[in-house]
Amino acid sequence: MSVLLTNIGELVTNDPGHGGGLGVVTVAAVVVDAGRIAWTGPAASAPAADVAVDLGGRCVIPGFVDSHSHTVFAGDRSAEFAARMTGEPYTGGGIATTVAATRAAGDDILRARGQALVREMLAQGTTTVEIKSGYGQDIATEARTLRIARELTPETTYLGAHTVPAEYADDRPGYLRLVTGPMLAACAPHARWIDVFCEPAAPTAFDEDESRAVLRAGLRAGLLARVHGNQLSAGPGVRLAVEVGAASVDHCTHLTDADVDALAGSWSAGSGSSTGSDGDTGPDTGHGTVATLLPAVEFSTRSPYPDARRLLAAGVPVALATDCNPGSGYSSSMPFVVALAVREMRMSPVEALWSATAGGAAALRRDDVGHLRVGARADLTVLDAPSHTYLAYRPGVPLVSEVWKDGARV
Ligand SMILES: [Zn+2]
Repeated sequence: MSVLLTNIGELVTNDPGHGGGLGVVTVAAVVVDAGRIAWTGPAASAPAADVAVDLGGRCVIPGFVDSHSHTVFAGDRSAEFAARMTGEPYTGGGIATTVAATRAAGDDILRARGQALVREMLAQGTTTVEIKSGYGQDIATEARTLRIARELTPETTYLGAHTVPAEYADDRPGYLRLVTGPMLAACAPHARWIDVFCEPAAPTAFDEDESRAVLRAGLRAGLLARVHGNQLSAGPGVRLAVEVGAASVDHCTHLTDADVDALAGSWSAGSGSSTGSDGDTGPDTGHGTVATLLPAVEFSTRSPYPDARRLLAAGVPVALATDCNPGSGYSSSMPFVVALAVREMRMSPVEALWSATAGGAAALRRDDVGHLRVGARADLTVLDAPSHTYLAYRPGVPLVSEVWKDGARV
Protein backbone atom coordinates (compact mmCIF):
# COMPACT_ATOMS: atom_id res chain seq x y z
CA MET A 1 0.00 0.00 0.00
CA SER A 2 1.45 3.37 -1.02
CA VAL A 3 1.00 6.45 1.18
CA LEU A 4 1.09 10.07 0.03
CA LEU A 5 2.25 12.51 2.72
CA THR A 6 1.19 15.88 1.42
CA ASN A 7 0.87 19.55 2.39
CA ILE A 8 4.37 19.50 3.87
CA GLY A 9 5.36 23.14 4.47
CA GLU A 10 9.09 22.42 4.27
CA LEU A 11 10.56 19.07 3.29
CA VAL A 12 14.23 18.41 4.05
CA THR A 13 15.50 15.59 1.83
CA ASN A 14 19.33 15.88 1.92
CA ASP A 15 18.89 15.09 -1.79
CA PRO A 16 21.22 17.16 -3.98
CA GLY A 17 18.71 16.60 -6.77
CA HIS A 18 16.50 19.11 -4.94
CA GLY A 19 19.28 21.66 -4.66
CA GLY A 20 22.30 22.24 -2.48
CA GLY A 21 22.42 22.33 1.30
CA LEU A 22 19.60 20.21 2.66
CA GLY A 23 17.71 19.65 -0.59
CA VAL A 24 14.68 21.56 0.68
CA VAL A 25 11.33 21.46 -1.14
CA THR A 26 8.55 23.81 0.01
CA VAL A 27 4.84 22.92 -0.22
CA ALA A 28 6.00 19.39 -0.77
CA ALA A 29 4.86 15.80 -0.77
CA VAL A 30 6.41 12.38 -0.24
CA VAL A 31 5.19 9.03 -1.50
CA VAL A 32 6.09 6.03 0.63
CA ASP A 33 5.80 2.49 -0.69
CA ALA A 34 6.88 -0.80 0.89
CA GLY A 35 8.75 1.04 3.64
CA ARG A 36 10.85 3.10 1.24
CA ILE A 37 10.74 6.58 -0.27
CA ALA A 38 9.17 6.25 -3.72
CA TRP A 39 8.86 9.91 -4.71
CA THR A 40 9.53 13.43 -3.33
CA GLY A 41 8.77 16.82 -4.84
CA PRO A 42 6.26 19.65 -5.03
CA ALA A 43 2.84 18.65 -3.72
CA ALA A 44 1.19 20.00 -6.87
CA SER A 45 2.90 17.38 -9.03
CA ALA A 46 2.68 14.41 -6.66
CA PRO A 47 1.55 11.10 -8.11
CA ALA A 48 -1.52 9.32 -6.75
CA ALA A 49 -1.24 6.84 -3.88
CA ASP A 50 -3.55 4.41 -2.08
CA VAL A 51 -3.82 6.65 0.99
CA ALA A 52 -3.22 10.39 1.45
CA VAL A 53 -2.18 12.03 4.73
CA ASP A 54 -2.36 15.83 5.07
CA LEU A 55 0.49 17.11 7.27
CA GLY A 56 -1.03 20.56 7.62
CA GLY A 57 1.95 22.61 6.53
CA ARG A 58 4.33 21.09 9.07
CA CYS A 59 8.03 20.49 8.41
CA VAL A 60 9.35 17.00 7.56
CA ILE A 61 13.00 16.03 8.02
CA PRO A 62 14.82 12.70 7.72
CA GLY A 63 14.73 10.79 11.01
CA PHE A 64 17.74 11.66 13.15
CA VAL A 65 20.65 9.21 13.07
CA ASP A 66 22.14 9.08 16.57
CA SER A 67 25.44 7.35 15.85
CA HIS A 68 26.78 7.26 19.42
CA SER A 69 24.96 6.11 22.56
CA HIS A 70 25.49 3.96 25.64
CA THR A 71 21.91 3.06 26.45
CA VAL A 72 21.99 -0.46 27.91
CA PHE A 73 23.05 -0.18 31.55
CA ALA A 74 21.72 -0.25 35.10
CA GLY A 75 22.08 2.03 38.11
CA ASP A 76 21.73 5.73 38.75
CA ARG A 77 24.38 8.46 38.78
CA SER A 78 22.31 11.57 39.31
CA ALA A 79 24.12 12.21 42.61
CA GLU A 80 27.43 12.31 40.75
CA PHE A 81 25.96 14.86 38.34
CA ALA A 82 24.68 16.98 41.22
CA ALA A 83 28.13 16.88 42.85
CA ARG A 84 29.81 17.89 39.63
CA MET A 85 27.42 20.78 39.13
CA THR A 86 28.24 22.05 42.59
CA GLY A 87 31.96 22.20 42.01
CA GLU A 88 33.62 18.80 41.82
CA PRO A 89 35.71 18.32 38.66
CA TYR A 90 34.65 15.52 36.34
CA THR A 91 37.21 12.72 36.18
CA GLY A 92 35.29 9.89 34.56
CA GLY A 93 35.91 7.68 37.60
CA GLY A 94 32.22 7.25 38.24
CA ILE A 95 31.89 4.63 35.52
CA ALA A 96 32.74 1.92 38.07
CA THR A 97 29.35 2.62 39.63
CA THR A 98 27.58 1.77 36.37
CA VAL A 99 29.76 -1.29 35.77
CA ALA A 100 28.87 -2.73 39.18
CA ALA A 101 25.15 -2.08 38.72
CA THR A 102 25.13 -3.46 35.17
CA ARG A 103 26.93 -6.66 36.18
CA ALA A 104 24.42 -7.18 39.01
CA ALA A 105 21.34 -6.48 36.87
CA GLY A 106 19.32 -9.20 35.20
CA ASP A 107 18.62 -9.19 31.48
CA ASP A 108 15.08 -7.95 32.13
CA ILE A 109 16.37 -4.81 33.86
CA LEU A 110 18.88 -4.07 31.12
CA ARG A 111 16.34 -4.74 28.39
CA ALA A 112 13.72 -2.50 30.02
CA ARG A 113 16.18 0.38 30.36
CA GLY A 114 17.36 0.02 26.79
CA GLN A 115 13.84 -0.20 25.41
CA ALA A 116 12.73 2.85 27.38
CA LEU A 117 15.63 4.95 26.12
CA VAL A 118 15.16 3.90 22.50
CA ARG A 119 11.45 4.73 22.78
CA GLU A 120 12.39 8.09 24.28
CA MET A 121 14.76 8.71 21.35
CA LEU A 122 12.12 7.72 18.82
CA ALA A 123 9.66 10.15 20.38
CA GLN A 124 12.27 12.86 19.80
CA GLY A 125 12.68 11.98 16.15
CA THR A 126 15.58 9.51 16.20
CA THR A 127 14.93 6.58 13.87
CA THR A 128 18.42 5.05 13.77
CA VAL A 129 20.52 4.61 16.90
CA GLU A 130 23.88 3.04 17.65
CA ILE A 131 24.32 1.36 21.04
CA LYS A 132 27.62 0.40 22.68
CA SER A 133 28.53 -2.12 25.34
CA GLY A 134 31.22 -1.15 27.81
CA TYR A 135 29.52 -1.30 31.21
CA GLY A 136 30.10 -5.04 31.64
CA GLN A 137 33.86 -5.29 31.29
CA ASP A 138 33.58 -9.05 31.83
CA ILE A 139 32.80 -11.64 29.20
CA ALA A 140 29.28 -12.52 30.28
CA THR A 141 28.03 -8.96 30.85
CA GLU A 142 29.56 -7.53 27.69
CA ALA A 143 28.04 -10.32 25.61
CA ARG A 144 24.56 -10.07 27.11
CA THR A 145 24.63 -6.25 26.85
CA LEU A 146 25.28 -6.60 23.13
CA ARG A 147 22.70 -9.36 22.72
CA ILE A 148 20.08 -7.04 24.26
CA ALA A 149 21.30 -4.03 22.25
CA ARG A 150 20.99 -6.10 19.07
CA GLU A 151 17.28 -6.56 19.87
CA LEU A 152 17.00 -2.76 19.70
CA THR A 153 19.22 -1.86 16.73
CA PRO A 154 21.49 -3.44 14.13
CA GLU A 155 24.11 -0.79 14.97
CA THR A 156 25.77 -2.44 17.97
CA THR A 157 29.30 -1.69 19.10
CA TYR A 158 31.61 -3.82 21.22
CA LEU A 159 33.34 -1.45 23.66
CA GLY A 160 34.98 -3.86 26.09
CA ALA A 161 37.88 -1.37 26.04
CA HIS A 162 35.80 1.41 27.59
CA THR A 163 37.91 1.54 30.75
CA VAL A 164 40.19 -0.89 32.61
CA PRO A 165 38.04 -2.38 35.40
CA ALA A 166 39.28 -2.12 38.98
CA GLU A 167 40.16 -5.81 39.24
CA TYR A 168 42.67 -5.38 36.39
CA ALA A 169 44.15 -2.08 37.62
CA ASP A 170 47.48 -3.82 38.23
CA ASP A 171 47.26 -6.04 35.16
CA ARG A 172 46.45 -3.94 32.11
CA PRO A 173 48.04 -6.48 29.74
CA GLY A 174 45.74 -9.12 31.22
CA TYR A 175 42.67 -7.02 30.50
CA LEU A 176 43.91 -6.33 26.96
CA ARG A 177 44.27 -10.08 26.39
CA LEU A 178 40.71 -10.59 27.64
CA VAL A 179 39.26 -7.80 25.47
CA THR A 180 41.09 -8.93 22.33
CA GLY A 181 40.63 -12.65 23.00
CA PRO A 182 37.76 -14.48 24.68
CA MET A 183 35.61 -11.38 25.30
CA LEU A 184 35.88 -10.41 21.63
CA ALA A 185 34.96 -13.95 20.59
CA ALA A 186 31.85 -13.85 22.80
CA CYS A 187 30.80 -10.39 21.64
CA ALA A 188 31.60 -10.32 17.92
CA PRO A 189 28.49 -12.34 16.94
CA HIS A 190 26.29 -9.61 18.44
CA ALA A 191 28.25 -6.59 17.19
CA ARG A 192 28.83 -4.70 13.94
CA TRP A 193 31.49 -2.37 15.35
CA ILE A 194 34.61 -2.38 17.55
CA ASP A 195 35.38 0.73 19.61
CA VAL A 196 38.00 1.81 22.16
CA PHE A 197 38.36 4.77 24.52
CA CYS A 198 41.76 6.00 23.32
CA GLU A 199 42.76 8.66 25.84
CA PRO A 200 46.28 8.38 27.27
CA ALA A 201 45.56 11.32 29.59
CA ALA A 202 42.94 9.26 31.47
CA PRO A 203 44.53 6.59 33.67
CA THR A 204 41.73 4.05 33.17
CA ALA A 205 41.45 4.57 29.39
CA PHE A 206 43.78 3.19 26.72
CA ASP A 207 46.97 4.48 25.13
CA GLU A 208 47.86 4.39 21.46
CA ASP A 209 49.43 0.92 21.34
CA GLU A 210 46.69 -0.62 23.47
CA SER A 211 44.01 1.02 21.35
CA ARG A 212 45.61 -0.14 18.12
CA ALA A 213 45.71 -3.71 19.44
CA VAL A 214 42.01 -3.56 20.33
CA LEU A 215 40.96 -2.13 16.98
CA ARG A 216 43.08 -4.51 14.92
CA ALA A 217 41.74 -7.51 16.86
CA GLY A 218 38.19 -6.34 16.17
CA LEU A 219 38.91 -5.82 12.48
CA ARG A 220 40.40 -9.31 12.26
CA ALA A 221 37.17 -10.63 13.79
CA GLY A 222 35.17 -8.96 11.02
CA LEU A 223 34.00 -5.88 12.91
CA LEU A 224 34.26 -2.31 11.61
CA ALA A 225 36.15 0.32 13.60
CA ARG A 226 35.09 3.46 15.42
CA VAL A 227 37.03 5.29 18.13
CA HIS A 228 36.45 7.46 21.22
CA GLY A 229 39.31 9.92 20.87
CA ASN A 230 40.66 13.35 21.79
CA GLN A 231 37.94 14.00 24.38
CA LEU A 232 40.03 15.16 27.32
CA SER A 233 43.29 16.10 25.60
CA ALA A 234 45.01 16.10 22.23
CA GLY A 235 46.21 12.55 21.75
CA PRO A 236 46.65 9.77 19.24
CA GLY A 237 42.95 8.85 18.86
CA VAL A 238 42.15 10.73 15.67
CA ARG A 239 45.26 9.66 13.79
CA LEU A 240 44.81 6.06 14.92
CA ALA A 241 41.20 6.14 13.71
CA VAL A 242 42.33 7.32 10.28
CA GLU A 243 45.15 4.77 10.25
CA VAL A 244 42.79 1.82 10.71
CA GLY A 245 40.08 3.22 8.42
CA ALA A 246 37.56 3.85 11.21
CA ALA A 247 34.17 5.11 10.08
CA SER A 248 34.18 7.74 12.82
CA VAL A 249 36.23 9.24 15.60
CA ASP A 250 34.00 10.56 18.32
CA HIS A 251 34.43 13.57 20.66
CA CYS A 252 37.26 15.40 18.79
CA THR A 253 37.25 18.07 21.47
CA HIS A 254 41.04 18.61 21.46
CA LEU A 255 42.57 18.51 17.99
CA THR A 256 45.94 19.47 16.53
CA ASP A 257 46.37 20.74 12.99
CA ALA A 258 47.77 17.31 12.09
CA ASP A 259 44.56 15.69 13.38
CA VAL A 260 42.37 17.93 11.23
CA ASP A 261 44.62 17.29 8.22
CA ALA A 262 44.44 13.54 8.79
CA LEU A 263 40.63 13.60 8.92
CA ALA A 264 40.37 15.74 5.79
CA GLY A 265 42.95 13.59 4.00
CA SER A 266 41.00 10.43 4.77
CA TRP A 267 38.32 11.64 2.34
CA SER A 268 40.72 12.36 -0.53
CA ALA A 269 40.88 9.71 -3.24
CA GLY A 270 44.07 7.71 -2.92
CA SER A 271 44.93 9.36 0.36
CA GLY A 272 47.32 6.51 1.05
CA SER A 273 45.97 5.68 4.49
CA SER A 274 47.82 2.78 6.01
CA THR A 275 46.43 -0.59 5.16
CA GLY A 276 48.54 -2.36 7.74
CA SER A 277 51.17 -4.97 7.03
CA ASP A 278 48.77 -7.86 7.65
CA GLY A 279 46.48 -6.69 4.89
CA ASP A 280 43.25 -7.26 6.84
CA THR A 281 42.89 -3.92 8.53
CA GLY A 282 42.84 -1.42 5.71
CA PRO A 283 40.27 1.30 5.36
CA ASP A 284 37.30 0.99 3.07
CA THR A 285 38.64 3.15 0.27
CA GLY A 286 35.19 4.49 -0.50
CA HIS A 287 34.90 6.21 2.86
CA GLY A 288 36.94 8.40 5.12
CA THR A 289 36.68 9.02 8.84
CA VAL A 290 33.81 11.21 10.10
CA ALA A 291 34.37 13.56 13.04
CA THR A 292 31.47 12.95 15.42
CA LEU A 293 30.85 15.75 17.90
CA LEU A 294 28.95 15.14 21.13
CA PRO A 295 28.20 18.59 22.58
CA ALA A 296 25.71 17.32 25.16
CA VAL A 297 28.75 15.88 26.97
CA GLU A 298 30.53 19.23 27.09
CA PHE A 299 27.25 20.80 28.22
CA SER A 300 26.79 18.27 31.01
CA THR A 301 30.42 18.36 32.16
CA ARG A 302 30.88 22.13 31.74
CA SER A 303 33.76 21.54 29.36
CA PRO A 304 34.88 23.53 26.31
CA TYR A 305 33.04 22.55 23.13
CA PRO A 306 34.80 21.06 20.09
CA ASP A 307 35.73 23.48 17.31
CA ALA A 308 33.19 22.47 14.69
CA ARG A 309 33.99 25.42 12.43
CA ARG A 310 37.63 24.35 12.12
CA LEU A 311 36.57 20.87 10.97
CA LEU A 312 33.97 22.22 8.56
CA ALA A 313 36.44 24.71 7.10
CA ALA A 314 38.83 21.83 6.42
CA GLY A 315 36.11 19.90 4.62
CA VAL A 316 35.79 17.16 7.23
CA PRO A 317 32.31 15.56 7.35
CA VAL A 318 30.88 16.19 10.82
CA ALA A 319 28.25 14.10 12.61
CA LEU A 320 26.32 15.09 15.70
CA ALA A 321 25.20 12.49 18.26
CA THR A 322 23.97 12.42 21.85
CA ASP A 323 26.50 10.07 23.55
CA CYS A 324 23.50 9.34 25.81
CA ASN A 325 25.09 7.72 28.88
CA PRO A 326 24.60 7.82 32.65
CA GLY A 327 27.89 9.55 33.46
CA SER A 328 29.03 12.36 31.20
CA GLY A 329 25.75 13.30 29.52
CA TYR A 330 22.34 11.72 29.96
CA SER A 331 20.36 13.43 27.20
CA SER A 332 18.72 11.29 24.53
CA SER A 333 17.59 14.33 22.56
CA MET A 334 18.92 15.04 19.08
CA PRO A 335 16.92 18.30 18.91
CA PHE A 336 18.82 19.40 22.03
CA VAL A 337 22.13 18.45 20.38
CA VAL A 338 21.18 20.43 17.25
CA ALA A 339 20.37 23.47 19.38
CA LEU A 340 23.72 23.17 21.21
CA ALA A 341 25.59 22.79 17.91
CA VAL A 342 24.03 25.99 16.59
CA ARG A 343 24.23 28.06 19.76
CA GLU A 344 27.49 26.81 21.28
CA MET A 345 29.52 25.55 18.30
CA ARG A 346 28.39 28.12 15.73
CA MET A 347 27.18 25.58 13.23
CA SER A 348 24.47 26.97 10.98
CA PRO A 349 21.01 25.38 11.36
CA VAL A 350 21.57 23.79 7.94
CA GLU A 351 24.96 22.32 8.93
CA ALA A 352 23.64 21.06 12.25
CA LEU A 353 20.64 19.29 10.74
CA TRP A 354 22.79 17.71 8.01
CA SER A 355 25.22 16.47 10.67
CA ALA A 356 22.39 15.06 12.81
CA THR A 357 20.97 13.09 9.87
CA ALA A 358 23.24 12.49 6.85
CA GLY A 359 26.37 12.99 8.97
CA GLY A 360 25.26 10.33 11.43
CA ALA A 361 24.52 7.98 8.55
CA ALA A 362 28.03 8.54 7.17
CA ALA A 363 29.45 7.83 10.62
CA LEU A 364 27.63 4.48 10.50
CA ARG A 365 28.48 3.89 6.82
CA ARG A 366 24.78 3.66 6.00
CA ASP A 367 23.39 4.92 2.70
CA ASP A 368 19.76 3.92 3.36
CA VAL A 369 19.11 6.38 6.20
CA GLY A 370 19.83 10.04 6.99
CA HIS A 371 18.22 11.29 3.76
CA LEU A 372 14.94 11.03 1.86
CA ARG A 373 16.17 10.26 -1.63
CA VAL A 374 14.14 7.75 -3.63
CA GLY A 375 14.98 4.30 -2.31
CA ALA A 376 15.86 5.43 1.21
CA ARG A 377 14.15 3.91 4.22
CA ALA A 378 10.97 5.89 4.85
CA ASP A 379 12.18 7.16 8.25
CA LEU A 380 10.71 10.65 8.69
CA THR A 381 10.31 13.06 11.55
CA VAL A 382 7.44 15.54 11.41
CA LEU A 383 8.04 18.82 13.27
CA ASP A 384 5.22 20.94 14.62
CA ALA A 385 6.97 23.93 13.04
CA PRO A 386 7.13 25.63 9.66
CA SER A 387 10.85 25.01 9.16
CA HIS A 388 13.77 22.99 10.52
CA THR A 389 15.36 26.17 11.88
CA TYR A 390 12.88 25.90 14.75
CA LEU A 391 14.93 23.00 16.17
CA ALA A 392 17.54 25.52 17.32
CA TYR A 393 15.26 28.56 17.43
CA ARG A 394 12.98 26.92 20.05
CA PRO A 395 15.38 24.87 22.23
CA GLY A 396 13.80 22.60 24.80
CA VAL A 397 10.37 22.70 23.14
CA PRO A 398 8.98 19.30 22.07
CA LEU A 399 8.53 20.02 18.36
CA VAL A 400 8.47 16.40 17.14
CA SER A 401 4.79 15.71 16.49
CA GLU A 402 5.01 12.35 14.75
CA VAL A 403 7.61 9.88 13.54
CA TRP A 404 7.46 7.42 10.65
CA LYS A 405 9.78 4.43 10.65
CA ASP A 406 10.09 2.09 7.67
CA GLY A 407 7.01 3.73 6.16
CA ALA A 408 4.70 3.36 9.16
CA ARG A 409 3.66 5.93 11.73
CA VAL A 410 4.99 4.86 15.15
ZN1 LIG B 1 30.71 7.50 24.30
